Parts: sequence; C-alpha cells; structure tokens
Amino acid sequence: MSLEELIKAEALSLGFVLCGFSRADTPPHYGAYLDWVESGNHAGMAYMARPNAIEARYEPTRLLPGCRTVISLGAAYPAPANTQKPQQNQGSVAAYALLPDYHQLLKAAAEILAQKIAQLTDQAFKHMVCVDTAPILEKDYAQNAGLGWIARNSCLTSKAYGSWLFLCELLVDLPLQPDKPLTNTDCANCHRCQMACPTKAILPNRTIDARRCLSYLTIEHRGPIPLAFRPLIGQRIFGCDTCQTICPSNQNLQNTSSLFDHAQALDPHPDLIESFLLTEAEFKSRYAKTPVLRAKYQGFRRNVAIALGNARLEEAKAALMDCAANEADEVVREAAQWALSQF
Ligand code: SF4
Ligand code: SF4
Repeated sequence: MSLEELIKAEALSLGFVLCGFSRADTPPHYGAYLDWVESGNHAGMAYMARPNAIEARYEPTRLLPGCRTVISLGAAYPAPANTQKPQQNQGSVAAYALLPDYHQLLKAAAEILAQKIAQLTDQAFKHMVCVDTAPILEKDYAQNAGLGWIARNSCLTSKAYGSWLFLCELLVDLPLQPDKPLTNTDCANCHRCQMACPTKAILPNRTIDARRCLSYLTIEHRGPIPLAFRPLIGQRIFGCDTCQTICPSNQNLQNTSSLFDHAQALDPHPDLIESFLLTEAEFKSRYAKTPVLRAKYQGFRRNVAIALGNARLEEAKAALMDCAANEADEVVREAAQWALSQF
C-alpha cells in the first residue's frame, strides 16, 4: 500500500468516513469568498471578514508555514430521523446539534491521525488541525480532495453520506500525492433547495446570504430577529435543515461515523413551553457540550418565544405574558410581545 492509502486506512479506523488529499494552494473559491464578504453576506459573523482571517484564507501556509498538503477528513452524523413537521407543542433543533459537540471529538481524532502518520513516515513533520475555528475554506479543499462537491445549497455533499458531514483538516508539511476531484457530480438542473428555502437565502453562486438564513439567525445572530423572517422561522428553535432534507443526494445514505456516541443524542423536537421555562442553569445543563449553547440562553429563549408565536399555542400565553411584562432581557421580552401579537 502507498503512504496515502495507509493514511486513509488509519483515518477510517479512527471513525472518519472520508479522507482525501489536496495541495495547499489558494482555494478555487477565494475570489467568491472575497465577493461574499464584500457584499455583506457574512452578516454579523465579523470573524469571517477580519483582515487577518481574509489573509489566512489565501493559502494554508499562512496558518502552517511550509504547509504542503491539506488532508481533508469527513465525519458523518445522522440525518434527521423524523423529517415530519414538529407537532404544535414542539420545536425543532437542527440535526448536527443533537450530538455532543463535534469540535473536540474531531480534533482529538485528527491529532491521533497525525501521530499515526509520524509512525508511518518515521519522520518529524509539522502539522495543524482545523475544525471550523481556523480561517480556511474547508469545502474547497474537501472538493479538491474528492470528498464530495459543493452543492447548490452550499453544503459539501458526498455520494455516500450526502451533506450530513462535519469537516476537519489536518495541515501537514509533507508532500502527499493529491487526490482527484470527483467528476460528474453536481446539482445538474435541480433547484429543490432554492425553492424550499423559506427565506430565499441561497444565492446563485452556491453561497448563502447569512442575513436571510434561518440557521444563522437562530444560532449566530445576536439581538432581535428581523420581523419579516419571524413567521418563516416556524417552530425552529436552533438551526434549519430544510435545504438539506429536501436534497435528493441526502436520501438512502450509508451509516454514520463511529466517532459519535448516539446514545447521547438530544430530542430533536423538545416541548416548546418546557423549553421556554428553562432557567439559565437548566439550559446550560441540558445542552452542555452541544452546539446549542452557541445560541446562548437569551438567543435560545428569543427563538423559542418566536416559535411559540408561530405555533399559536394557547397554553403558552401565560408564560409569554409573564415574560412580556417582566423579562429583564430586552430582546427576549420583545420576542414574547411579538409572539403574543400572533395569537
Ligand atoms: S439553512 Fe434554511 S434558511 Fe438557510 S439556506 Fe438552508 S433552507 Fe435556507
Ligand atoms: S436540492 Fe438539488 S440543487 Fe440543491 S443541493 Fe441538492 S441536488 Fe443540489
């Protein structure tokens, strides 16, 4: 077996389902990324537009001096088990957020892979692991490495695992043989995701206008959610899976990664009133070590208040009225007032 084949076998044995290599060159969509930022499509995600982050995304050597190869790794998480709408008293949490936070899991597995590579090559080399937090256009490298293709909904989509994937990169200063990008894999004439997107956030160049995206608005956005989008949120209380669940590439998929402890998966449709009444301590305890904490307590309650307004749940009126009158946080209080106005 070649060194590259041995590394791939090690990656799979660690629980990744996809592994491929690409050169540490400037990513193909760097110009599109600059345009995206220039147009303000990153919304409040200032970390996407900081000068040093823009500079770093130009090529991986800015992150790891001497970097020669990007090893792209994919870990598959379960697709939503129930794609039906939640019942009137339930909210919806995006599938990726139901498992314990992937950052540490993937980082730890990639670090072990780096150790295995050191054993295989019997030489010291420099490496760096990136899981979301480092400024790198990860989907470009994954596409170059043959893991999948950047689909119209902007998700990296693989043939076997669809787009229910977490990506991770292991940058190394070793000159590994690059893989070939996939051929004959694109969205052809399909536009289902664009049609299904409630807010028309999917742009023609396969990027997302975060200012309109319900995933961004319910997770990253701080402050009040613009009025026009509130009815479109429906009963989503964290994230949005619509442009993925609708995708034909996401049907009949293979098994998911063994990296995840599925026994710890959260309820995808928690009770809305119960969620609304969680104290901050209960919220932090229930969602400990899961991506849901990213919304923070106030953001989560704001989302649940909006979902309650959309569900027009009579039993929620008392809790909403109390919140609308007495809540200290202005954004949550205003969301509760809006929710009551929907009845
Ligand atoms: S996550 Fe939801 S709102 Fe965002 S682009 Fe996809 S369908 Fe649209
Ligand atoms: S729904 Fe269709 S257009 Fe959208 S990502 Fe899937 S295959 Fe591509």
